[in-house]
Amino acid sequence: MTEKNTSHNIPYGRQTIDDEDIRSVIDVLKSDFLTTGPKIAEFEGDRNIAVGALELPAGSEIITTPFTFSADANCALYNGCKPVFVDINPQTYNIDPEQIRKKITKKTRAIIYVDYAGHPCDIAELKEIADKHGLALIEDACHALGAEYKGKRVGSFADMTVFSFHPVKHITTGEGGAITTENQELYAKLKLLRNHGIDKTPSERATYVYDMKMLGRNYRITDFQCALGISQLKKADKFLKRREEVAKRYAEAFSGMDSVTPQLVKSDIRHAWHLYTILVGKGINRDSFFSKMRAKGILVNVHYIPIYKFSYYKQFGINPKEYPVTEEVFSRIVSIPMFHSIKDEDVETVIKAVKENANK
Ligand SMILES: *Cc1c(COP(=O)(O)O)cnc(C)c1O
Repeated sequence: MTEKNTSHNIPYGRQTIDDEDIRSVIDVLKSDFLTTGPKIAEFEGDRNIAVGALELPAGSEIITTPFTFSADANCALYNGCKPVFVDINPQTYNIDPEQIRKKITKKTRAIIYVDYAGHPCDIAELKEIADKHGLALIEDACHALGAEYKGKRVGSFADMTVFSFHPVKHITTGEGGAITTENQELYAKLKLLRNHGIDKTPSERATYVYDMKMLGRNYRITDFQCALGISQLKKADKFLKRREEVAKRYAEAFSGMDSVTPQLVKSDIRHAWHLYTILVGKGINRDSFFSKMRAKGILVNVHYIPIYKFSYYKQFGINPKEYPVTEEVFSRIVSIPMFHSIKDEDVETVIKAVKENANK
């Protein structure tokens, strides 16, 4: 959780940890392995090394959305590649496939697409583009654990799919995440890259001998985090059902209001509701709406400040005018509270406050 949660404040998101979770962590703390032990194989955690595993030549271009967490562009930079931003769809806020087509050059090697708020992208269309141009696909499903596209769970559509287990996400391990892939070669590289590029962990070595095959870093997850992850994963379906219930109530309450527009939910997906976002009406000042909600203890947030606005990204000379949809959505969007343990009465408090403040 990133915000203070006193009794009268309703955060935009937060974790749920029960006694079973706590017991499973304590069990590992009392065991022989704190890291690189048996819980890892049981839970398998890696992350953020997906771009590294592609081993792209320096200067390669990677297409992604600017309307996401900065990690999605940073990972291109870590690997000597250039992030190329593409504008979003005005209703789902996902990357717009039509705009991707316009930004493909000879140097383009990969697309990182983000299932914004938990709404899967137009995956079939993205695959078609990737196949046509020989591009790798990385799905950032950090918002989308449990989401479905055309009846199938996200996790195996792209070459690699990344998940985060930060406390604000669907399930948590404190920090850390996971990458899923069905490609054996990528899987082997990911395992090297998370462990300094070394091919054998201490428990896998029969003698002192091991090799370092790639320049990796330490992306290891601990066993007590995996124990928590295993325990949390069992509850993921229950968590998601509650999020769906809350989303349904919000949608009902805001339907017919001109001053509040929820995210469009397409008919061929199951939304995972990491975030519940609304756009405030064009005549309403988002920042003053934001302050009024916070003043009532409703800890709304904004997801996201477009990446090209950050000072570090200024050096790339990106013109915000090239991203009119991102700019418009950013100027009006607010994330309202959405988490598994939110109480019904708090949902009603949020709805009432939105209705009062969105009309001014
Ligand atoms: C949370 C998140 C990440 C990754 O977060 P970590 O801090 O690396 O766990 C990446 N992308 C999106 C869209 C996220 O929401």
